[in-house]
Amino acid sequence: MTRAAAIVVSGGSGSRMGRPKQFLPLAGATVAEWSLACFAGMAEVEAVVLVLGEEAFRARGASLSGGKVTVVRAGPTRMGSVRNGFAALPAGIEVVAVHDGARSMVTPEIVRATLAEAARSGAAVAAVPVKDTLKRVPKGLAVVSETPDRAEFWAAQTPQCYRYAVLEEALERFKDDADATDESQLVERCGHAVSVVPSSYENFKITTPEDLTMAEAILDSRGGGRETTVGFGYDIHRLVAGRELWLGGVRLPHGKGLLGHSDGDAVLHASCDAVLGALGLGEIGVAFPPSDLKFKDLASKEIVAHTLAKAREAGAEIVHLDATLIAEEPKLKPHYETLKASVAGLFRLPPGRVSLKAKSREGLGAVGRGEAIECHAVATVRSRRPA
Ligand code: MG
Repeated sequence: MTRAAAIVVSGGSGSRMGRPKQFLPLAGATVAEWSLACFAGMAEVEAVVLVLGEEAFRARGASLSGGKVTVVRAGPTRMGSVRNGFAALPAGIEVVAVHDGARSMVTPEIVRATLAEAARSGAAVAAVPVKDTLKRVPKGLAVVSETPDRAEFWAAQTPQCYRYAVLEEALERFKDDADATDESQLVERCGHAVSVVPSSYENFKITTPEDLTMAEAILDSRGGGRETTVGFGYDIHRLVAGRELWLGGVRLPHGKGLLGHSDGDAVLHASCDAVLGALGLGEIGVAFPPSDLKFKDLASKEIVAHTLAKAREAGAEIVHLDATLIAEEPKLKPHYETLKASVAGLFRLPPGRVSLKAKSREGLGAVGRGEAIECHAVATVRSRRPA
């Protein structure tokens, strides 16, 4: 197999966006992260070099590097940035894809086709036929001088892919070229033929604020790298006299309640642990350690609020909760609807997305003797992270 690597250039200043655009939020991640994730997720791309401007390099370089991703600093010009990325490629790479980090909607199919053509012919550019009629308007005038035949024009995108030696020659010969807007024009000037590989109109460059709206819609319509994960949670509390009984955020009439550091709400504790489990974020005991006195008699609704905040930070949404209570007393069936509505309200879910069941332990063990209530919960979570 041909050894391939990618250089993702995200060093721009974003003058048309008013601020650097590469880390603007986009569909649960950021503009640059979507581009990075496409290349990093491709088995046939063995290394990815991300080129960042100084500020982004300092703020995010460490967190974005790792695995097959190396992060380097941008140069003073686009070509300087590509050269810095090129210098960081591992030895033995045969084909290189250069990609503009602001083309977040690039797909593995486009990358694969462009890399394959470059491996075959030496240089290939992802491109689309121009849809609009073109007018030539001489500089400084507002009058059309010519209407060229549109059929001869393609709009060049990225990735632009090259055999290693072809890109090396262009970067070396034109190292001081500050005006080149892509590498392929330098490769052309070296006398190499550059092939066009039909791409998608969705692979546009995010340049203006309206582009972000369109990009968000496109990534959403693709299911945008969403992944569904499932988490499991479990909790048990002793049932003792003289405590209020709280389950699912509802105070139930009963002579006994659950003993705990907080209100002992086993349904909410198990459900929160299930959500955190689906997010890969541990358990509620980490954020609310029982040893910390300030959490004594904590209302479990606050644990739910904390869990929802964690889900939001992770760009995730809870899809469904399913909890099974195991209790000898009180009888919970009469309270099903109240408990379900309460859990749904606390987790901001439609009522149909919460399931609640209760079982008896048939007299077996401590729960069977009515000394405790336990709860098992499963959460389904959809995350919008690209990788
Ligand atoms: Mg608990």
